[in-house]
Amino acid sequence: MNDKTENENSMINNYLAHQQERNALGIPPKPLDAGQTADLTELLQNPQDADPGLVYDLIAGRVPAGVDEAAKIKAHFLAALARGEKSSPMVSAEQAVYLLGTMGGGFNIDPLIELLDDLQLCSKAADALAATTLIFDAFEKVFEKSAVNNQARGVIDAWAEAAWFLRAPQVPETITVTAFKVEGEINTDDFSPASEAWSRPDIPLHATAMLRNRIEKPLETMAELRQKGHPLAFVGDVVGTGSSRKSAANSLLWHIGDDIPHVPNKRRGGVVMGGKIAPIFFTSLEDAGALPIECDVSGIENGDVLVIRPHEGVIENADTGKTVAEFSLKPATILDEVRAGGRIPLIIGRTLTEKTRTRLALGPSEIFCRPVQPGKSPRGYTLAQKMVGRACGKDGVRPGQYCEPKMTTVGSQDTTGPMTRDELKELACLQFNADLVMQSFCHTAAYPRTVDIKMQESLHQFIKQRKGVALHPGDGIIHSWLNRMLLPDTVGTGGDSHTRFPVGISFPAGSGLVAFAAAIGFMPLDMPESVRVRFTGTPAQGLTIRDVVNAVPYAAIEQGLLNVEKSGKKNIFSGRIMEMEGLSHLPVTAAYELTNAAAERSAAAAVISLDEKPVAKFLKQNIEILSLLVREGYGDRNTIEARMEKMQAWIDDPQLLHADADAQYAADLEVDLSRITEPIAACPNDPDDVRQLSQIAGTPIDEVFIGSCMTDISQMENAGKILENAGGAVPVRLWIAPPTRLAARHLRHQGWFYTYGRAGARMEVPGCSLCMGNQARVADSAVVVSTSTRNFPHRMGNNCQVYLGSAELAAVSAILGRIPDPDEYRNHVADAGLVPAI
Ligand code: SF4
Repeated sequence: MNDKTENENSMINNYLAHQQERNALGIPPKPLDAGQTADLTELLQNPQDADPGLVYDLIAGRVPAGVDEAAKIKAHFLAALARGEKSSPMVSAEQAVYLLGTMGGGFNIDPLIELLDDLQLCSKAADALAATTLIFDAFEKVFEKSAVNNQARGVIDAWAEAAWFLRAPQVPETITVTAFKVEGEINTDDFSPASEAWSRPDIPLHATAMLRNRIEKPLETMAELRQKGHPLAFVGDVVGTGSSRKSAANSLLWHIGDDIPHVPNKRRGGVVMGGKIAPIFFTSLEDAGALPIECDVSGIENGDVLVIRPHEGVIENADTGKTVAEFSLKPATILDEVRAGGRIPLIIGRTLTEKTRTRLALGPSEIFCRPVQPGKSPRGYTLAQKMVGRACGKDGVRPGQYCEPKMTTVGSQDTTGPMTRDELKELACLQFNADLVMQSFCHTAAYPRTVDIKMQESLHQFIKQRKGVALHPGDGIIHSWLNRMLLPDTVGTGGDSHTRFPVGISFPAGSGLVAFAAAIGFMPLDMPESVRVRFTGTPAQGLTIRDVVNAVPYAAIEQGLLNVEKSGKKNIFSGRIMEMEGLSHLPVTAAYELTNAAAERSAAAAVISLDEKPVAKFLKQNIEILSLLVREGYGDRNTIEARMEKMQAWIDDPQLLHADADAQYAADLEVDLSRITEPIAACPNDPDDVRQLSQIAGTPIDEVFIGSCMTDISQMENAGKILENAGGAVPVRLWIAPPTRLAARHLRHQGWFYTYGRAGARMEVPGCSLCMGNQARVADSAVVVSTSTRNFPHRMGNNCQVYLGSAELAAVSAILGRIPDPDEYRNHVADAGLVPAI
């Protein structure tokens, strides 16, 4: 046996051993990588004693689709078979063309277009192309060929008639499912625990952790319910709140969805019912071809067999025949989305069909259900409506209007980044169309596993190859950097729910939509309504911007616009845009704390009206920071320099959009800051459960965390000034994580590291640290005061109780070992000589 044959046989043996290990976990093997695929192509030509069925199944169904390296090897091999340059006793030329047609887009497209000229295989190639929508620039080649080639003409006609859509079965009249119901609020951390973030790209493996921290034996429960013989539908009171992580939808759909032919280890479809489904989670479900239904679920019990009539909006109990819930389909296009395999495939396919029809001088296709557009209004536009309008080439867009704003800035972090990368590969993206795409490594930098190190290296390269800006591990938090790259009044997105620009507007999304926005350069958006938050008055001396942040839910609760209870949840911000006014003098970094916290309110987005002066100051600093990146060799250099030029152009002619005086809002909330006389903190374990300091004073605490994207240098310095008076080590475990390496360098140079060290602080690598809770964690059941963003159960540590407040409050709490009363707080702040920050 020669070396090569030995390799190929050992590839099969290794694969079978791996398959056995994964089967023991109840999951399929991993998709083939480039090396395995190369060995497989050799086996297909010279099978020796390999099992032909297994080898064919591997090439047909276990290689990732799109522009993965393994897919490239597969596509080149199949193309060579089709051209007769190679041969295989297991895959004929016809089968090779068929398999090329199952690969989505990317490396398979050019060979298929070439094969339109092959006398034997042209009809098979045409058939494959007719069902393919990830065509992009190759459209021109087919269109040109269609003038002289009948098969190419057939492809063009098929695209014009949306054959790719019509070939898929319609959503049936009835869907029978077994309800898998979990009571209360199920957030994305329940579906996709942060502590298991490392396994997110491996969807089946990650899905084994779903709901592990939420209910007893979730996998066994689902297996038992499946015995009833129907697919499961997930049912919850409030579903998908919390971070935007697409892995939550991936895990859920792994258990309730359907396999995608020729795409390994990913599922789509499935039904999710919720009294309330968080907006980002809702769109992640839409993107993945699931049917999310918002309805009253109180009449549904775990284990009920349900008959869903999607076209009628009715859910019946199969045993009693009684209607248990009614619903309206939302959005109007949802059944088309399910039929197309998801909202993203629908948009891509619809765009191809419309483009083809335009080139053929045909009118718009009538096959698709169109988004319902709102009527005309004589009223003016809000700030957000103007920003999105500008990104669509219009004066403004109205709430409810479907639009496709240009994506100027897109952010990706490292626990969703690998999934975004997979989605980019599936979208056949070789270069970003969004102006600036940035990748950070803030979630995995501090205590990486081997798998994280490999991901960090490969993802860095992947982003740079596509002309994105790639940071390094240890550089710091995604938002602390991405905010430094923004352009005023522009639109963007990011795969982290705190992607909430302080200048411009961002609509954070799951990794599928983020990949789409980065690759294609626009984003599908049903423009949400806006809620105006007007700040008036001045808070008492010694209070901070974090107290202003917490004053928003405080005032909303007082005014009956928000409640803390989960059943009968009231939240005026949910799915809407928070438009903040009245603090236009704020520095941009402080403004970010306000927009950041829109994530905790489940808002779709947030904007804050700022003066030109602080924005210009911010942009000037940012040009210096970006120049430093260029000097340090960061790439893509052209992308960074182009952004610096645009910043300078804005500084040279500084103009900001402003809301019209007669703009309409779905609701108004006034926050009178003069009524804020003491710090406000969010209490365990709900960021909405905000209380004044006097209500929680005296609570003993175990640990304090100062860090996250809610902090900047000034807060770290303020904490240092307070800690200086501690006179030694504090009586709690104190964690400090500077947001960026530039902040860390500044704090070190200014001597603050010495102060933190004397207080006994554990200094963390710049990054998310305890805020993410996926690496280092607080002790089990610890009571914590933290400056981080959210305090969902178990996020920071098992069974921990977390109070969220300012860095100043955290520092005083650390010194006392308990939450201070308002006087103690004031005294410490005054002793530290702190000036009011607002
Ligand atoms: S610091 Fe926290 S909220 Fe901010 S990006 Fe990191 S994990 Fe997300």
